[in-house]
Amino acid sequence: MEMPAPDKGVIARRAAIAEELRAIVPGEGVIVDEDELRPYESDGLTAYRTLPLIVCLPETVEQVAAVMRYCKAHGIKIVPRGAGTSLSGGSLPLADGIILGLGKFNRILEVDYDNRCARVQPGVTNLAITTAVQADGFYYAPDPSSQIACSIGGNVAENSGGVHCLKYGLTTNNLLGIELVTMDGEILRIGGKHLDSAGYDLLGLLTGSEGLLGVVTEVTVRLLPKPSSARALLVGFPTSEAAGDCVAGIIADGIIPGGMEMMDRPAIKAAEAFVQAGYPLDVEALLIVELDGPEAEVDHLIERVRAIAEEKGAVSVRVSESEEERARFWAGRKAAFPAIGRISPDYYCMDGTIPRGQLPLVLRRMRELSEHHGLGVANVFHAGDGNLHPLIMYDANKPGELERAEEFGGDILKLCVEVGGVLTGEHGVGVEKRDLMGTMFNADDLAQQQRVKCAFDPDGLLNPGKVFPILHRCAELGRMHIHRGQLPFPDLPRF
Ligand SMILES: Cc1cc2nc3c(=O)[nH]c(=O)nc-3n(C[C@H](O)[C@H](O)[C@H](O)COP(=O)(O)OP(=O)(O)OC[C@H]3O[C@@H](n4cnc5c(N)ncnc54)[C@H](O)[C@@H]3O)c2cc1C
Repeated sequence: MEMPAPDKGVIARRAAIAEELRAIVPGEGVIVDEDELRPYESDGLTAYRTLPLIVCLPETVEQVAAVMRYCKAHGIKIVPRGAGTSLSGGSLPLADGIILGLGKFNRILEVDYDNRCARVQPGVTNLAITTAVQADGFYYAPDPSSQIACSIGGNVAENSGGVHCLKYGLTTNNLLGIELVTMDGEILRIGGKHLDSAGYDLLGLLTGSEGLLGVVTEVTVRLLPKPSSARALLVGFPTSEAAGDCVAGIIADGIIPGGMEMMDRPAIKAAEAFVQAGYPLDVEALLIVELDGPEAEVDHLIERVRAIAEEKGAVSVRVSESEEERARFWAGRKAAFPAIGRISPDYYCMDGTIPRGQLPLVLRRMRELSEHHGLGVANVFHAGDGNLHPLIMYDANKPGELERAEEFGGDILKLCVEVGGVLTGEHGVGVEKRDLMGTMFNADDLAQQQRVKCAFDPDGLLNPGKVFPILHRCAELGRMHIHRGQLPFPDLPRF
């Protein structure tokens, strides 16, 4: 994986830069010792590692703004970082860049039930928001599987989702406002407690911008009342095609489940061996369908879903009869990633989205790709959203396997685009999908997106090397002739 060539001049000035940063962030907020930098060398995309130049952990928004101004003035790159769980390498460090960690921004500033919202600092974990309000009957809906660890600032930057996003939306649909520090050190407030803001939808633009446009220092999220009841069905199918048909049938019937997840046989086996969730082992595909709302409505919908599942060829249907049983149905799905980690030395989690109707075709093609690349794959996915998470199993100690896994992953993502889907679902582009952006966008599309980047960060100092395959300097935009998508002198680094 190619990253921007490190600036040797910046690396040579490391000690002086650290000293100057200490004047802005006093105390223990500037880290330079190798042992203490080590925890920041990677993120959730653990195949890649680099020690950052310096880690800086500010505590106030004024410190963040001053660090940004300092870096802008001295041409130093910044990688914003929340909890470092990004699966696309969004928070991977740079050898000549500062990691700007938001871990000390960990306070819930205000819970406002009248306006059904909470104002929190970006380092607060996703789950901590729900934990803070659940005794009062509220929760924060987007629930990534990493919610115990990932930060809400990271969720905003990645537009994260989870099993409940089919009904309740992704981060972008549950976000009311942010405070953002630009590369110039300007502190902006966008949105607020109200539902819509005047002018262009800047909040929409900044959500999912992967740390390339600014640093989020405060987040206002929507709080929802907890549904009064929820029950789940566990439905086994003899083929993935039948399970895919069932998903389509449920949606076509006008039912929007609180969550609708699918697992294939390898994922079912691994999850069952890990957490004993009670999954049937003689099926090819398993659906977990959760209905939530008033009890009478849930009971009615459960029967409708059961009827659709049986009509589509389900071979086993179980309905949760208690909260404990519902939690057990979900336990296997939520532990699916670590479960694969138990049976394979390494795995590579992909994230692409397809139109729901293409599910059977894509699963079949994925099996062929698995044979072609000689690597196993287990599938868990947000079936209702068409968001796939194939887990490619490989052994990094075997020469060539990482490269084969990457190639296999690239083929899966190209397949998603080919059938009318997109490269990402909820994990972002980062470095993982950066070089595939050209399969989805043409040169004009990419240049337009980069113009937005340049409007916020003309020197390309914020999280460079991520998202854009050819992060040429903003000054060059419009001057480069790209013939049939082919760059002149493609071997020249253009970060
Ligand atoms: C086991 C596991 C399961 C996962 N499951 C899901 C899932 O179900 N759904 C899902 O959507 N994701 C999932 N993820 C991916 C990951 O947890 C999310 O992308 C999450 O939002 C990242 O949050 P973070 O705090 O760890 O961000 P980081 O990894 O630290 O950063 C992610 C990106 O956000 C930027 N960033 C972070 N904080 C800020 C800030 N304050 N201001 C500006 N930019 C910032 C970084 O520069 C980087 O580009 C999973 C990850 C793991 C390891």
